[in-house]
Amino acid sequence: MRKKIVVGNWKMNNSVAESVQLATEVVEALGEGFSGCEVGIAPTYLALDATEKVIAGSEVQLVAQNCHYENDGAFTGEVSARMILAVGCSSVIIGHSERRQYFGETNATVNLRVKKALSEGLKVILCVGETLAERESGVMETVISSQVREGLEGISDISAIVIAYEPVWAIGTGKTASSAQAEEVHLFIRTLITELYGQSAAEKVRIQYGGSVKPSNAVELFAMPNIDGGLIGGAALNAEDFVAIVKAASL
Ligand code: PEP
Repeated sequence: MRKKIVVGNWKMNNSVAESVQLATEVVEALGEGFSGCEVGIAPTYLALDATEKVIAGSEVQLVAQNCHYENDGAFTGEVSARMILAVGCSSVIIGHSERRQYFGETNATVNLRVKKALSEGLKVILCVGETLAERESGVMETVISSQVREGLEGISDISAIVIAYEPVWAIGTGKTASSAQAEEVHLFIRTLITELYGQSAAEKVRIQYGGSVKPSNAVELFAMPNIDGGLIGGAALNAEDFVAIVKAASL
């Protein structure tokens, strides 16, 4: 039985003070000793350190929104895996569609980042997902297959990897993939992982769904056999909604 995992991606929202406030609310709303599912929050780089102090001792894990594939050097604006590890992150989101769409990330650069993060001892949330045009033109499976295969190129052990299926057309749009639509793709990804890593690894790997998950649709999505939790954007900015989604994953 896979333990579900819910992670709030705060994106470029919240000052340090606001992040501390939101993290405090999340920890309080979850209550002591919560163990229903794995929970993480991903504030901006700037707020990682202060947020870590708030969640220390709780079940909430610190997650970064990205990391670079070099340790240090002339990479203005970037932050390395070692740096996020040093402030207490246990995981990092890599290949989010906004990184691919607005910052030129490719499957090749995503793969470099995944490898570096793993080699430094971080767990990785690898994001994949098709655009509406790709879905409508019938290339969805080809796109997702390339994102998974190329994102995992050269990686022999995926035990520290969670895959997040996030259809681009459902991110921040209020449009959620129906539970059946999401399940179909999750099953496709798990079958692909079986082909690449064998049945035992595929049965263990967690595949999160992301795209306008809310308290009102979380229960139905998380009830699907191949949906192992969620990567939450907008709804993670409100502690009550986020914790309601976490609890939906803990049923
Ligand atoms: C995300 O950014 O990963 C996401 C799923 O956003 P939202 O929940 O706002 O659609």
